[in-house]
Amino acid sequence: MSTALLIDGQLVPGRGGEFATINPATEETLGYAADADADDMDRAIAAARTAFDDTDWSRDTALRVHCLRQLRDALGDEIEHLRAITVAEVGAPVSLTYGGHLQAPVDGLGYVADLAENYTWTTDLGEAAPFGKPTRRTVVREPCGVVGAVTPWNFPHQINFAKLGPALAAGNTVVLKAAPDTPWCAAEVGRIINERTDFPAGVVNVVTSADHALGAQLTEDPRVDLVSFTGSTATGRAVMVAASHTIKKVFLELGGKSAYIVLDDADLPAACTAAAAGVAMHAGQGCAFTTRLLVPRARCDEAVAAAATAMSSIGFGDPTDPKTLCGPLISARQRDRVEGYLRLALEEGGRFACGGGRPADRAQGFFIEPTVIAGLTNDARVAREEIFGPVLTVIAHDGDADAVRIANDSPYGLSGAVVGTDQARVDWVASRLRTGTINVNGGVWYSPDAPFGGYKQSGIGREMGVAGFEEYLETKLVARGISGTR
Ligand code: NAD
Repeated sequence: MSTALLIDGQLVPGRGGEFATINPATEETLGYAADADADDMDRAIAAARTAFDDTDWSRDTALRVHCLRQLRDALGDEIEHLRAITVAEVGAPVSLTYGGHLQAPVDGLGYVADLAENYTWTTDLGEAAPFGKPTRRTVVREPCGVVGAVTPWNFPHQINFAKLGPALAAGNTVVLKAAPDTPWCAAEVGRIINERTDFPAGVVNVVTSADHALGAQLTEDPRVDLVSFTGSTATGRAVMVAASHTIKKVFLELGGKSAYIVLDDADLPAACTAAAAGVAMHAGQGCAFTTRLLVPRARCDEAVAAAATAMSSIGFGDPTDPKTLCGPLISARQRDRVEGYLRLALEEGGRFACGGGRPADRAQGFFIEPTVIAGLTNDARVAREEIFGPVLTVIAHDGDADAVRIANDSPYGLSGAVVGTDQARVDWVASRLRTGTINVNGGVWYSPDAPFGGYKQSGIGREMGVAGFEEYLETKLVARGISGTR
């Protein structure tokens, strides 16, 4: 299979030729994707600009709602094809494609279509007489214009649709620049839009490329009004700097190093088992995964043992197997990066309670054994930096206030969890965590109507929910003079 770019309503080859997409579980080349060059990106931005400026797209809410529902349904019709690609290209465990890896984000398009259909686009502020001039004031919400959406490889459908859906529902036009490791997931959406929906030409453009510079091009181009970026904090910083030259609005979803806090009245073995599963899932390649397990000091050894037992029994496996929770890492580069952190853990004085490297019996695929690190404090780099692998670091705390202190002692503030029996204590802890989402006693925060995003260096803005929709809107105040009244 090979894929095309979607530019100005046409499926076209990349001017840079093609690049390979790799199955991370087998290291085999799956096929090829169109490799866009800077001219392709330039045409995609021009098409999005024209579609925004010269068509009724931004004003025709009914058309937008229709197109988004059409897209959701067309994706549903091809869901098995998309599932196969997602498992093969991303290494996503197939069980997760029935949730956050595919089905849930596709369903989320229906949520934003409903939201746009029922949204209050104008609000009457009533009459007033500022400086003695009788005036009727109306607040109008309008789309920002051309959105440059730049996405990573770890949950490509979730992140692509969490940008495309609200940006389009709000009336923007979009250039989606997909991650070089997962071009097919995005390109197939472009094909389906082209073949099976009524989106006008230029409203959605999908660009795949092996070259990261095309992402930078989007952030610099003056024709782009808003950059919606998900990726590493380092790249987010570069996006913010580049966007500052033309004062673009930026929306950033970045890294995390979230804490799972176990209070001393919690069911410790159950909590450690849940924490281990949450980090082994998709080989730990989730920005909001709780990769620091904070446990009462007196029961730290017991917690390490429980987490290690759970991690070892989860193991790793073929992502096509419905029982697999932990598949491969996306690439040799990511596997090498995770291995570097595992070496660092030992250098910093830590020890592995299980795992610790590549599986000995697996020659092919970018696998890392689910790993539990013990013996470190929150000062270790391994406890402070995002590893993005199936690696859980267990850290001792000395009570509720100390757990809060450790959890918040991080440059990140994306997510977190707290478990305990005494509801007042649990709530006391939850209310002090400086994070955008929090799981309290097993609650699930992921949902199309629930805003997701980070405090501190985990990002700016919120994705999904009403807040995620409104990120893509400007606010205009229209003041109409009332003649003849005074
Ligand atoms: P990355 O930052 O390397 O790349 C993300 C995207 O940015 C890719 O499409 C890439 O081509 C593009 N890019 C690279 N350099 C660029 C530049 N200078 N300007 C503009 N675009 C550029 O991230 P990654 O390795 O693909 O993804 C992993 C990271 O993403 C992790 O740090 C993870 O925490 C983060 N992430 C965050 C969230 C969230 O919602 N907070 C979700 C998923 C992933």
